[in-house]
Amino acid sequence: MEYTTLVAVYNRLSATDATGEKRAILADVFADAGGALPRLVVLVWGRLGPAYDRPELGVSSSLALEAVCRATGAAKSAVRERWRETGDLGSAAAWAAEHGGQQTLFAESLTVDRVHERLREVATFAGEGSRTRRVDAVAGLVADADPDEACYVVRTVLGHVRVGVGEGLIRDALADAFLDGSDAAVAAIESAYQVTSDYPLVAERAREAGLDGVQALDISLGRPVRAMLAAKAASLDAGLSSAAGPDDRIHCEYKYDGVRVQLHVDDEIRVFTRRLADVTAQFPDVVRAVERGIEGPAILDGEVVGYDPATLGGDAAARAPVPFQELSTRVKRERGVERVAAEVPVVFHAFDYLYNGATLLDRPLADRLDRLESRLTPISPRPAGDPAVAGLELATAARTSADDPDPAAALYRAALETGHEGLVLKDPTAPYTPGRRVGRLLKLKPTMEPLDLVVTRAKYSEGRRSGLLGRLSLACRDEAASEAGDPALREVGRLSTGYTDDELAALTDRLEARVVARDGRAVDLQPGVVLEVEYEEIQRSDAYDSGYALRFPRFLGTRADLGLADVDTLARVEHLYESQ
Ligand code: ATP
Repeated sequence: MEYTTLVAVYNRLSATDATGEKRAILADVFADAGGALPRLVVLVWGRLGPAYDRPELGVSSSLALEAVCRATGAAKSAVRERWRETGDLGSAAAWAAEHGGQQTLFAESLTVDRVHERLREVATFAGEGSRTRRVDAVAGLVADADPDEACYVVRTVLGHVRVGVGEGLIRDALADAFLDGSDAAVAAIESAYQVTSDYPLVAERAREAGLDGVQALDISLGRPVRAMLAAKAASLDAGLSSAAGPDDRIHCEYKYDGVRVQLHVDDEIRVFTRRLADVTAQFPDVVRAVERGIEGPAILDGEVVGYDPATLGGDAAARAPVPFQELSTRVKRERGVERVAAEVPVVFHAFDYLYNGATLLDRPLADRLDRLESRLTPISPRPAGDPAVAGLELATAARTSADDPDPAAALYRAALETGHEGLVLKDPTAPYTPGRRVGRLLKLKPTMEPLDLVVTRAKYSEGRRSGLLGRLSLACRDEAASEAGDPALREVGRLSTGYTDDELAALTDRLEARVVARDGRAVDLQPGVVLEVEYEEIQRSDAYDSGYALRFPRFLGTRADLGLADVDTLARVEHLYESQ
């Protein structure tokens, strides 16, 4: 297929905002695509492969700019100017192809296959000279492109074709093109996609084998399944009653705060994140543990958690997990992986078993877990002192029933005491439902307790609320530094959401009576107005003199019944910070 034919499709797609029209355009294109179907399905989406295969081209916008200038003969400053004006380097490339002054010989016209293959090849360039090779490759395509083609080559290189096609639209168009377009057909495409993460495959199967063929698509090694997701439980009791299976049984597990990964174990072991990125190279320590602890073929779901190395060695309960942020940087790391792995040892906590050579997705959870337990040989992190090997364990769990909350409550306490995030409550009879947030998997985390804080400073808002005091600085009491009758206050954050206009107007009246100094729109206040505030978490911060900052504080109400002496203390803020 000529690339210009695909470019015409891009142009038709971007000419309309109507989803129905886009769906019809795509369905026609898919139906007529012939052998180009698998490539078209990903290219209209601005990708170069299925969702789990996203080659890293290593082409930044400045490298693409260089390639465009080289290919078209346009001056860098002029292309940059177009880019700045339109915010789109693709449009700037089209302009350059038209006005660059290079005599284009159209040595070889572009085809869909050539663009696709060449760009995938770019992702394989590594080592010395690879930057030049990348520029050459992109410039080679742009040199043979007409202006519209140049635009889409560049946009594809940058990973964003800007024609408004997402996963949902591809699903609907495939259902129209090859099935009967009904809700059932759309649902079948959706399920097949959740289980394969592979639209080219689903598309070809739909065309060749219709609905039955699509429904027969299943989990397989090397293609990550979309992770089953959890709904939120408001409380332990609520969670227990929603998660309970028909026989009232419940499976409770620690909720770990790490990186969710899916392990594909065969002769080769691969590690995928929840976003379907292949991070095998980033977790060599996990791969080594899996080599020792589980024989393929197998697909496992679980969480990789980092631990403070000083706390390893003894009882698992004594290990201190490191904050998620410390581990998450590993996912993108390209160099120094082994060093970082040795610094922050990890454990893969397995909590599901999806495949053992045959699919296990439809089996009840309890059965999947029994099989997992008999298949997996636990490995302690750093076995025999080897820092290059991770741990491999089943998630810490308890089984109970809806009318006996004690084991779940004990597990919840233990999870929090050992530094984990909370609990996950699961229906032991439930199948694994890829990609869905279903009520048979519930997560339970402590919500932060609200704080009562005093307003010390404020600022008049701008715009619609300009007469109202909007940005309110909040402080806690530093008991250690306070003298009788003269409490020392330490700021912990600034509040600007959660109140209605009327609440803010009433608050402004109360605060204005306490203004002691003005500086432009800012006012200092005689502290005395106490507010109840909720927030997402407490962070360490130099921005405030308490050394802490509330993340996403929200107004819950004015506590007219409280005075300065009732304001929460810095010690309590510290305690909450430690316990979150
Ligand atoms: P959160 O920020 O609460 O982790 P999320 O949006 O990342 O939520 P959810 O599906 O809502 O993801 O919550 C479930 C997440 O909890 C999973 O993605 C997984 O990473 C994590 N998790 C930790 N322990 C378990 C466990 N034992 N079973 C299932 N999921 C677990």
